Amino acid sequence: MNRKYRKTIIAGNWKMNKTPAQTKKMFEELKAKVGKQKWCDVVLCVPFVDIPAACKASRDAKIAVAAQNMHFEESGAYTGEVSAEMLSELGVKYVIIGHSERREYYGETDKTVNLKVKKALEAGLRPIICVGETLEQREFDVTAEHIAMQVKIALNDVPAEKMRKIVFAYEPIWAIGTGKTATAEQAAEVCGHIRAVIRAKYGARIARAVTIQYGGSMNAKNASELLAQSDVDGGLIGGASLKTEDFAAIINAANQ
Ligand code: PEP
Repeated sequence: MNRKYRKTIIAGNWKMNKTPAQTKKMFEELKAKVGKQKWCDVVLCVPFVDIPAACKASRDAKIAVAAQNMHFEESGAYTGEVSAEMLSELGVKYVIIGHSERREYYGETDKTVNLKVKKALEAGLRPIICVGETLEQREFDVTAEHIAMQVKIALNDVPAEKMRKIVFAYEPIWAIGTGKTATAEQAAEVCGHIRAVIRAKYGARIARAVTIQYGGSMNAKNASELLAQSDVDGGLIGGASLKTEDFAAIINAANQ
């Protein structure tokens, strides 16, 4: 974390979990546990159908609501899809773009990620752009090249003045949902590399203000060490965001 230049953001990614009633319950529990956080913003990325319940329950809490995906077109014949404008009108503030599960199971590419990023920004949403390498890419020592390509394509044609809205999440694919966490050094190295790629394109002033999260089996035990790295500005948390106690402990770690 570097509180001087950028906001720490702790975001939970619920994936395909929780009904609207369960959403209301967890928001209420969380409100009682965490109160007003001074040092970090708290975000919950909920399934589409839970968004109205989440927005209602978050009204008097300092918890922002996020979606887990969106379409890059404004409207049209895209059965089953949801647009950025629809999300924004409901009160959604952030949207995850290019999560590795979307890339793997639903054919998302760096190019569709870029189209979605631009459309999200147009609608006033803050994109949380996920990038990360496979275990094979890490073993072949091409992590840096792969990440640089993902970051550059995601930011293609994104103007400098929109960069304060962008959040990156470094999520090594081998660490997502596996219980294997990147070491603090590995997380710091790649988050620092993402910042260097942004710096080369937009300059130091813009790069130092971008929040870059780590994601991949982050939990109450390892959060403090990961967040102690100056280039790790928060977390995108899957499994450990589903239980109030676990998620609240990570939020508290970000506020020490
Ligand atoms: C994620 O879904 O983005 C994630 C990091 O999951 P987990 O924390 O369960 O590894």
